Amino acid sequence: MRISAISFDGDMTLWDFNKVMRHSMKHALVELRRKVPTELASRLTIDEMIGIRDQVAEEFRGRVWKLSEIRRIAFERTLERVGCPDSSLALRLNQVYRKHRFEDIELYPDVLPALDTLSPHFNIGLLSNGNSYPEHCGLEGHFAFVVFSQDVRIEKPDPRIFQITARRAGCPVERLLHVGDSLENDVAGAHNAGALSMWLNRDGVRNGTGIQADYEITSLADLPLLLGIGRS
Ligand SMILES: [Mg+2]
Repeated sequence: MRISAISFDGDMTLWDFNKVMRHSMKHALVELRRKVPTELASRLTIDEMIGIRDQVAEEFRGRVWKLSEIRRIAFERTLERVGCPDSSLALRLNQVYRKHRFEDIELYPDVLPALDTLSPHFNIGLLSNGNSYPEHCGLEGHFAFVVFSQDVRIEKPDPRIFQITARRAGCPVERLLHVGDSLENDVAGAHNAGALSMWLNRDGVRNGTGIQADYEITSLADLPLLLGIGRS
């Protein structure tokens, strides 16, 4: 078989990042309103907080790699927005956010069965632009290799991060299969690096991008059978 290693994307592939992120933001917002009982704070929304975080990420792209630092700066900006600049409160909000962000993360139900079925046959790893390390999300011991963009300072879809991943997996890049939900970051990125790509299309949406994956699945439960190794 041509494939010897499989790398998985994290956010929206192994867990629902949007759900846990919004849930954690809600806890941070409750804490913010408790500490800043003003009209401006009472009108602040989670969508505005997400918007501020995305602006900060864009502003510091290529300069600040640690996502927790981006988040902390975003909380500083948020506090400025509600008229209460306070860097120690920003740190506190970041702690509240991170506590829920990692403690309350839930894997999709198809993740562990698929990993358990695949592990005896392939070298399995994690390749993420996020910061959910396996020990933070109930996946400790499941991966033979992990690559995080914030550590190597290269983000998907840059082909170099797939080459790094193949090296860590101990195989030529052509024998690496990368599985992810993003056509741009995961599928096109892997393809441009010479790896095989699998698009995880959980919602069964139409692909109008022109980016073609080598494989497409709607559930990780389909993966083992597709790779010819029995049922998950
Ligand atoms: Mg993803």
